[in-house]
Amino acid sequence: MNIQINQLGYTPKMKKTALLRGPLADEMQVKNAAGETVLTVPVDQGRTELWGDSLAAVDFSALSMEGTYTLHCGDASSYPFVVAESPYQDCLAALVDMLYYQRCGCDLGPETGVFAHPACHTGMARVYGTEEKVEVSGGWHDAGDYGRYIVPAAKTVADVLLAWQWNPAAFVQGITPVLDEVRWELEWMLKMQRADGAVYHKVTCASFCGMVMPHEETEALILSPVSTTATADFAAAMAMASRFYQSVDAAFAQRMKEAALQAWAFIADNDPILFRNPEGIRTGGYGDGYDGDERLWAAVELALTCGGDSYPKAAREWLAVIDQNSAPLGWADMRGYAAIEGMQLPGEAGESCRRWVRKEADRLLERINAYGITMTDYLPWGSNMDVCNHGMLLFAAYQLTHQETYRLAAEKQLHYVLGVNPVSYCYVSGFGSRPMSHPHHRPSVAQGVAQPGMLSGGPCSGLADACAKERLQGQPAGKCFVDDHASYSTNEICIYWNSPLIALMAGIMGA
Ligand SMILES: [Zn+2]
Repeated sequence: MNIQINQLGYTPKMKKTALLRGPLADEMQVKNAAGETVLTVPVDQGRTELWGDSLAAVDFSALSMEGTYTLHCGDASSYPFVVAESPYQDCLAALVDMLYYQRCGCDLGPETGVFAHPACHTGMARVYGTEEKVEVSGGWHDAGDYGRYIVPAAKTVADVLLAWQWNPAAFVQGITPVLDEVRWELEWMLKMQRADGAVYHKVTCASFCGMVMPHEETEALILSPVSTTATADFAAAMAMASRFYQSVDAAFAQRMKEAALQAWAFIADNDPILFRNPEGIRTGGYGDGYDGDERLWAAVELALTCGGDSYPKAAREWLAVIDQNSAPLGWADMRGYAAIEGMQLPGEAGESCRRWVRKEADRLLERINAYGITMTDYLPWGSNMDVCNHGMLLFAAYQLTHQETYRLAAEKQLHYVLGVNPVSYCYVSGFGSRPMSHPHHRPSVAQGVAQPGMLSGGPCSGLADACAKERLQGQPAGKCFVDDHASYSTNEICIYWNSPLIALMAGIMGA
């Protein structure tokens, strides 16, 4: 397609920009479902070169009447799209339902169609290097594999809770209410805590299994050793969640607060314990060479949840250490969560966090390219997560300042993952005219159809798998994507890639 649009459409009041590729006519027509031209806009013949494309942006925001439309310019046309009050509602529900589909340790019923399966991974897990067995069933499968990892779980929980905080009204449908779904993960996380407060880094089999359904992975479960990154992330997520569940179930909220305090006590008494896969374990490592940002996030959340003097003091101390750096959001770097949440802190710590969020958002604004995103030519594995993370930070800056520039930039990140991109895909399975349809995701491969509502990792300029190496040689960064389940480096899915899109989408729906 040579005219790129958000394939899910736009709200009537949203700024609407199409991206045109190549040499095109002087005017672009907007046609309704009957083929009648309802709007004509001039096309600026200036071009921006990016990733092998010669691009012109055309604003058609004058289109505000609800309906279904296509764009036309010379011989080129766009996919059809809608202008509607809630164009993202179904997709948001599906993105949350994806977490339900990823549930481990329970039967999935007919509500999941061909993805129904009996309870999986229900056996006791053995603590690595010992004969001790622990019951750790539950939670969500992390990604295209069936591992369950604390570090990415904490990011996912934080994103979905932020989405709920930003716009609870956005969550009106789906298989489960969103706070029930997040609780499914929190209950599992609580089981991952040791009696001394430390938290096991992950529970997986020794290796990844083949492309089978979850209940068919029957190898022994192993709890990998504890880490301070996992323990601090756990403390932060539990402290944060306890505030959200206070009015829902006070006893559960109290349990989470106590678990957070125990985890904090452990990290306060221990030097960094950084995770590396122990011998014989070959599943995802989620290793991280620095735990200061996780400790900071935990201190901020405990300060917000418990008040008093000690946690705000700890938060200030950590802030002083790492305030000079940027504040990204990710599974390895939690400074962004500390900053976004810390904006609520009183005094200098809160001021510092608010300054941090604005600085980070301004840094992102400077990097916006012709496709509307904040990425450079280096697109990492899971680049769509970075796009959505950046959208979240921009949205947080908008919430803080109410400056339109930040909101419009956040919207561009959403438009990119939903169709305004160099490969013309809607990167969410089951949505848009050209949805990602062949994810690296075991149930989808086993059943021969893509589970709906999953965000693809998207372009990875490093060509980090054999399929990508074979199919994408010489492609510019933004086109290093192949919709093939064999390309795990460009087309896997993850709970913590869905989650920032949930937050970004919910935020924009309420703005
Ligand atoms: Zn399972």
